[in-house]
Amino acid sequence: MTARADVVILGSGPNGLAAAVILARAGLSVTVLEGQHTPGGGMRTLPLVSDTVTDAEGLLRDVCAAVPAAAPTSPFFEEFDLAARGIELITPEVSYAQPLDGGRAGIAFHDLDRTVERLGTDGRRWSRLLGPLAAYSREVATIALSDKRTPPHGDPLRLARAGLALATSTALMGGAWGDGYWHTEEARSLIGGVSAHTISALPSLAAAGTASYLGALAHSPAGWPLARGGIGVISSVLVEDLLAHGGQLVVDHPVRTPSDLPPARVHLLNTHARVAAELLAEPYRSRLRDLPLGGGVCKLDYVLSGPVPWREPLVQRAGTVHVGGTLEEMRTAEAQVAAGRHADRPMLLVSDPAQHDDTRLGRSGLRPIWAYAHVPTGSTRDVRAAADRQLERFAPGFRDLVVDCVVTPASRMAEHNAAYPGGDIAGGMVSMWRMVARPGPRIDPYAVAPGVYLCSQSAPPGPGVHGMVGLHAARRVLRKEFGISKMPSLGSVSPK
Ligand SMILES: Cc1cc2nc3c(=O)[nH]c(=O)nc-3n(C[C@H](O)[C@H](O)[C@H](O)COP(=O)(O)OP(=O)(O)OC[C@H]3O[C@@H](n4cnc5c(N)ncnc54)[C@H](O)[C@@H]3O)c2cc1C
Repeated sequence: MTARADVVILGSGPNGLAAAVILARAGLSVTVLEGQHTPGGGMRTLPLVSDTVTDAEGLLRDVCAAVPAAAPTSPFFEEFDLAARGIELITPEVSYAQPLDGGRAGIAFHDLDRTVERLGTDGRRWSRLLGPLAAYSREVATIALSDKRTPPHGDPLRLARAGLALATSTALMGGAWGDGYWHTEEARSLIGGVSAHTISALPSLAAAGTASYLGALAHSPAGWPLARGGIGVISSVLVEDLLAHGGQLVVDHPVRTPSDLPPARVHLLNTHARVAAELLAEPYRSRLRDLPLGGGVCKLDYVLSGPVPWREPLVQRAGTVHVGGTLEEMRTAEAQVAAGRHADRPMLLVSDPAQHDDTRLGRSGLRPIWAYAHVPTGSTRDVRAAADRQLERFAPGFRDLVVDCVVTPASRMAEHNAAYPGGDIAGGMVSMWRMVARPGPRIDPYAVAPGVYLCSQSAPPGPGVHGMVGLHAARRVLRKEFGISKMPSLGSVSPK
């Protein structure tokens, strides 16, 4: 490491790298420290090897996130312009699917009209609820990804309409009376599957808000895309930009105590509030420790010899499959997990990237299947047997195709990303209150101690690959610490 930097950023996740790019482009000297061997945090694609599958197969796995649904409408990524940097976002024909028993399935096509048509008696209701959200998806994203402190930028009329659609949908889906809104299990379970992204008991206002936001994105121009070559390509272009603007990246540098952090005028912590707390003195430490942990996940990286044989063939066209059965079953599973028990039929999120991106097929035709199951925080259990049962139930013959599976229990998630203590992949509990009072109830949620800023999903707007916590934190650092009120341009690829 060279001379004392203006800014040291601990962590190279999407938010850490977003902040780094902004601050380096503003002319500051920036050093990013990363505990792992490779940068990217929750946005990494690495070789998939196991006891039986070697490097020679050329398989890749998305270690954490696989579907950057929030990226296309994120104000940060819109300006950073992924397409101009050679990133191809592939839009699956089906954004998400929900297989049900008897070969039925709820299908949320990217195309709203096709979804409405297929939902039969619930089609008009879907159109009434999701139509306005989809029409204003850009503004819905601007609101959802705001710092929840300052008014979002944009056309006031469109923002007002988006806000109204978001509030209506959240209130409708959040109340128990939202159940009565749907007549078909397909529609009810589709909404349940999207709500379950919060990894918390259902229903709740936070889950309804998440379902409204993600539901809008599913029918937005980019849908729920996959990045060609794996999500790690997004990290690569962020790192390239940082280096092109004079920034430094130091990998294999875990920070466990304050003395592991080199001195700088300002420190940004791109890690879980609980991990950041350990690097601060009192009273700042206790304030960050207050954020309760969110639910946990057990990651499952399957290697299959063919596509998942979903009983309903349309499910194969989905970029994301929510495997949890009916809304009632998902409620039971999420309630069990929230109560600290393993679900008998766990909620799974599944993606088969090779279905949409042929670069993801292995040399001999094997394919990676990305999946994770909701489990109690800190769980040490390998839940593969339960996951296999769920998959076999909706895709008979699944087990026969499995070549291998690499399992990472919740208790071991922090080994590949210290920001996921106990397998909490959301940077803390997701509730309506905690999406605003994140990491705690304060006017500036980013400035956590003198000269120290939190720039992880433990601050608003919370989880997802959007880089917006990095943007909100960087904007404050520029203004408050360096007296710079103009944000640098992010669009140009060439260095200053
Ligand atoms: C299994 C899984 C599936 C997911 N699926 C999706 C998805 O499909 N779509 C989506 O949008 N989101 C998904 N997410 C969530 C998404 O990955 C996160 O919301 C996002 O990565 C958070 O970004 P971040 O920058 O705040 O932190 P992170 O991406 O977690 O990055 C934090 C970085 O800081 C480093 N770090 C932390 N503490 C230390 C320390 N003490 N010393 C050194 N380095 C440290 C870590 O190694 C890491 O590189 C998923 C997450 C997981 C785990």
